[in-house]
Amino acid sequence: MTDKYAVIGHPISHSKSPLIHQAFATQTHQDISYQAIEAPLDGFISTIERLVSEGYKGCNVTVPFKFEAFKLCKQLTGRAQAARAVNTLFFRDGEVLGDNTDGAGLLNDIEQNLQCKLLFKKVLLMGAGGAAHGVIWQLFNAGATITVANRNVEKARQMVAEFAPYGTVFASSYEALAGKSFDVVVNATSSSLADALPPLPDGLFAAKSLAYDMMYGKQTPFLTFAAAQGAAQCADGLGMLVEQAAEAFFKWREVRPATAAVIAQLRA
Ligand code: NDP
Repeated sequence: MTDKYAVIGHPISHSKSPLIHQAFATQTHQDISYQAIEAPLDGFISTIERLVSEGYKGCNVTVPFKFEAFKLCKQLTGRAQAARAVNTLFFRDGEVLGDNTDGAGLLNDIEQNLQCKLLFKKVLLMGAGGAAHGVIWQLFNAGATITVANRNVEKARQMVAEFAPYGTVFASSYEALAGKSFDVVVNATSSSLADALPPLPDGLFAAKSLAYDMMYGKQTPFLTFAAAQGAAQCADGLGMLVEQAAEAFFKWREVRPATAAVIAQLRA
């Protein structure tokens, strides 16, 4: 029997997740269906209840429901707990369980696809919203020294506080970055959505550095700035999108799909 999955968001029509999961299913010979479902802004929980009652096996959750999904779960993985947000749900015996695969998606894209290992590297994580929360635990676990910069510095401080006892992690304003350089700079702000650039100082990119924008589908002001400032490698978030989907697919189906061909297909 076909196992049913979905992605839930608002809006959702732009989502590439059905295409990605269908490609994984074909490649790994898994009998699944995967559809995009738009939940009303006040109707996330009732949509989940409907999917559970209709026998769905799980779903992905995207903007703006990741925090609501977190609160809904009976059990969470450690990385979902650290993120305080959930992008992957499992429906088992009428219960809703949650994971967050965004951090693994970013890490796999950076370390495997882009061949940039993070152990003892200096990473600047820009932003302290949902996307930054979703990835900091995994960056930390990879052994990077992390600086979180945010317009609202207090949010950055709150975000790093829980990690401070276990490793090297700092909070910063954008102004205080002057004179510092980083091996990897990740833009996890939503500035690119508005074609804006956070107020970054010159000289931020160390030799052989990687500039990574979680946004995908267009040349962003951040990637243009990074190239002009001498970043050795510039990447958008398409690889992360496919890798977080692969991690969710793996957790649901216990088969790990290959991602390179799917990334190439989406780029084309
Ligand atoms: P949130 O709304 O939760 O957070 C927005 C963050 O961006 C805040 O830290 C905010 O700072 C900052 N910000 C917004 N505008 C600016 C600006 N002009 N200059 C500086 N900082 C700014 O959004 P999310 O964290 O959910 O999403 C962020 C981005 O990540 C989106 O573009 C999204 O598409 C992308 N994303 C990509 C994924 C992928 O798979 N590739 C997965 C998840 C997200 P402040 O707190 O000071 O307001």
